[in-house]
Amino acid sequence: MRSHFPSINLATIVCTLGLSLVVMSAATTHAAEDSSPSKPIKEAPEKSKSGEASDNVIKSKSKSSEKSSEKSSEKSNAKAAAAQRDKEELDADVLADKIAKKMAELRKESERKAPPPPAMRRSEPKPVQRAASITNPSAGQPHGSNLAGDAMLIPHDVHWSYEGEGSPLRWGKIDPANAKCDTGERQSPIDIRDTIRVDLEPVQFDYKPVRFNVIDTGHTIQVNLGAGNSITILGRRYDLMQFHFHKPSEERINGRNYEMVAHMVHKDVDGKIVVVAILIEQGKAHSLIQTVWNNMPLEKNDTVQPSGTIDMNQILPKDRQYFTYMGSLTTPPCTEGVLWVVIKEPIEVSQDQISIFSRLYPMNARPIQNSAGRLIKESN
Ligand SMILES: [Zn+2]
Repeated sequence: MRSHFPSINLATIVCTLGLSLVVMSAATTHAAEDSSPSKPIKEAPEKSKSGEASDNVIKSKSKSSEKSSEKSSEKSNAKAAAAQRDKEELDADVLADKIAKKMAELRKESERKAPPPPAMRRSEPKPVQRAASITNPSAGQPHGSNLAGDAMLIPHDVHWSYEGEGSPLRWGKIDPANAKCDTGERQSPIDIRDTIRVDLEPVQFDYKPVRFNVIDTGHTIQVNLGAGNSITILGRRYDLMQFHFHKPSEERINGRNYEMVAHMVHKDVDGKIVVVAILIEQGKAHSLIQTVWNNMPLEKNDTVQPSGTIDMNQILPKDRQYFTYMGSLTTPPCTEGVLWVVIKEPIEVSQDQISIFSRLYPMNARPIQNSAGRLIKESN
């Protein structure tokens, strides 16, 4: 079902011609960008739409030739009628051919004018969404009340991203399931400041080497982990499901962001989420990061399943003091009720390692959200 590029067939062309050029351009761009596994391009409706359009062309062509048909019918010559039909079909083919050429030109031109930024060609982190759907019953509810006004101006199939049409300011309007991105009051990331220093219980990390796979979700590089890793915090146990990266770090500490951040997404039996953030700064090469990069897929939405294991203890810095606050997922649907644990001591990765990620995702950080008086605790 995934179609990375729109094929220029007659159906598409005729369908597109029926719409305005602006809409055509958006739809074409979308088709090239959107290969999200959770929202695959629906080929069937496209085909039926295109089919309808093709019929219309043939109908209108038939109409325009009605007069000549009448003349030939006067002669009641079956042969002539058949010849006429052949001619009509030929005309339609020639017309379609002309349209195809014109559309190809227009498409090339629109691509030249506005090459899509790399971040927009990619799609959303599926596992995060899966986790969200468990903890966010509202995600599946009918359309929210905020889907009005200028939301109607956004083409239906715009996909969320970090810039352009699907940029963070529009996430809540792209899909009613993302309403929290707009209306939520405990969103992430935030600038961590004005903390209260208290004695925080250490997070207990129970990590061990497990099997893993690496997926390019279209929004980030994500590592899905086999069972066996967990943390215990505030008396509850949460299993580590996956971790992924943002560049630059989404969270700020007193206004400062870091080169990157790794978000380790944990979930308990009730679907409650704890994200442990590992801040990343430039320095020495990091072996675990190298393991992940070694297994990066060549294509978006592809998964690499290495034969070895990964030991998540390696990503943890020595000092595990942390900041903690209540927030949300930082990607649509921006589900709230997420406990954030931001480890204070950053880890180091090399400039080369940062550059490798940067080639795929030069910027995949949601802007800072209003902390709105939320309590932020910090280990003493
Ligand atoms: Zn994240």
